[in-house]
Amino acid sequence: MKWKIATALIAGAWLSMQSAHAAPCMIVTVTGAQGGPQAYQGQAGPGTLVRYGDDADNCSAVRLQFDAGRGTSLRLSQVGVQSAQLNAVFLTHMHSDHSEGLIDILQHRWHFASRGPKLDVVCSIDAASPMGFAVSCQKFIAHIGDHFIQGGEVAQRRAEDRNRLPGGPAEAANVKTFDPGDEPQAVWSSGDVKVSAIRSTHIPGHASYRVDTPAGSVVIGGDAGNDRPGPPRPSSTSAQVETLAKGADVIVHSAIHPVMGPERDSGMPPGLFHRQSSASDLGAMAQRAGAKHLVLTHLIPPLGAPTQGTWKVPGGALTEADYRKAAEDAGFKGQIVVAKDLANLWLPAK
Ligand SMILES: [Zn+2]
Repeated sequence: MKWKIATALIAGAWLSMQSAHAAPCMIVTVTGAQGGPQAYQGQAGPGTLVRYGDDADNCSAVRLQFDAGRGTSLRLSQVGVQSAQLNAVFLTHMHSDHSEGLIDILQHRWHFASRGPKLDVVCSIDAASPMGFAVSCQKFIAHIGDHFIQGGEVAQRRAEDRNRLPGGPAEAANVKTFDPGDEPQAVWSSGDVKVSAIRSTHIPGHASYRVDTPAGSVVIGGDAGNDRPGPPRPSSTSAQVETLAKGADVIVHSAIHPVMGPERDSGMPPGLFHRQSSASDLGAMAQRAGAKHLVLTHLIPPLGAPTQGTWKVPGGALTEADYRKAAEDAGFKGQIVVAKDLANLWLPAK
């Protein structure tokens, strides 16, 4: 009997030693595959959740959200992640389709976890538009709860629970801005997880991110396109994103299908078409960068949609195979994921 207990104790010690050396892992989850402000068939707005940990904590020691479109908190709840569990949110740019879900996330953080750690919100410093206005992530966050303050909810809920921070949802955020440049720069880290960023072109202040962990690496391009606003140019993709993506395992990127181009009759203004990266050029870039997986998301047009907003899709609605073929025909040999909400990838592969 004693011998059995001793064996059990030794086995227990062995197990805890094993978990101390548990294998690192990472999960990349598309929290929303919809591109642009329009709503289509319940898809959430753009966002990517990156979880890192080991097999003892189900790859969830660190949880990072990149962009937070409409419905992000709903998708997070489907994978068991609450707003209070996020370590940081990173924004690629100040377009509502990429940022409006953060209102919800910060309201929840304030409501349920005001006394917990603030949520790091990492984004570009204020960027001046050549058209004479400023694009400001810092102001977006500073005023993110204003309508709840003006409507009286912040005062009312604070009367119910004095633990809630007096400044409302904005006070639940810790904004960390950086000045995006042409070379990757470190913008956030926690233990083994390092996040870097680079300048990219879409609107002023757009940035793309890379997460490096012992389990692998992922680049989130956002809506990056080439610095040259249209042809002639070698590619519609961003040279800076390609620099950032060298040797990365996964590239997650917004994609436009070539059928929407000005040589067809979609009616989409050429400038709007050219500021996105095409699915074909993304395939070629991912191959040059040596990526193993390419996740095409923020699809323009969405899968199965007869129109992109008010513009038609020449030749009819696109399928997953149409996007896949565009990237494959351009030479990408790795795995292609044509994203729907909650598409995910495990590293190392399961
Ligand atoms: Zn977008």
